[in-house]
Amino acid sequence: MGWGRFLSGQAGRWAACGIDLVYPPRCPICHGETGGHLDRSGPAAALHPEPSPWAAAVCGTCVRELSADVGRCLRCGEAGGPADGCRLCPRRPHDWRHIAVLSSYAGGLREAVLRAKRPAGDEVSAALASLIVRKHAAAIGSWGVGRVVPVPMHWWRRSIRGTSAAGELSKRIATRLGLPWGRPLVRHRATRMQNELPIEDRPRNVQGAFRVRRRLDGEHILLVDDVVTTGATLSECCRALLAAGAATVDVAVVARADRSSADA
Ligand SMILES: [Zn+2]
Ligand SMILES: [Zn+2]
Repeated sequence: MGWGRFLSGQAGRWAACGIDLVYPPRCPICHGETGGHLDRSGPAAALHPEPSPWAAAVCGTCVRELSADVGRCLRCGEAGGPADGCRLCPRRPHDWRHIAVLSSYAGGLREAVLRAKRPAGDEVSAALASLIVRKHAAAIGSWGVGRVVPVPMHWWRRSIRGTSAAGELSKRIATRLGLPWGRPLVRHRATRMQNELPIEDRPRNVQGAFRVRRRLDGEHILLVDDVVTTGATLSECCRALLAAGAATVDVAVVARADRSSADA
């Protein structure tokens, strides 16, 4: 190797070290320094294929804490149920086929979900999307999903917020899974926030609020949202997608408000 090439290689390495010293890598969830010493053989290692540097920086502690969850029913999302349908499923008719949940809407995950909704929350969305895919890639793969779509936000609310958490999450999940992303659903009626309403009023609040831009004949859809509580919004979206010809709709959400945290 010539001296010139050696020196330019060293300079690159020194420059990289310098940047790390000035801007030490920080975890987008807890803002703790990862110190550039991520455990590449541990859970965080699985996050590295993400082309975005954000997700690569999730620290091992956050990966463990946010992904820690009880076993869940993959049909209704109930905590502690068997994966293939629990005793509560018949009492909660749902229009989706399966639901993948990262964890319960509480503690650090609740804070991360709220941060993802803010205008600068895209890096948090990217991290959360990575964690969902890391946890459920095998299940989602077995569902035969062909397209990832977000639960839409009304354009007016999005213009105020400047970001759509479900939109960002769904894009990142699609990239991770190597699937096409699309936005066939539109929220054509501004609805009141579901969490401002009593549970019994929520289905009526979103009834007829969504329409589909084009036919989806035979498509297998993965519908993405950040939080599920009663499932009224997701069900209404599923009905619109199925009415437009979708063959199946499966769901992926970051957090489920379990009974103990349902008032959150
Ligand atoms: Zn962290
Ligand atoms: Zn169930």
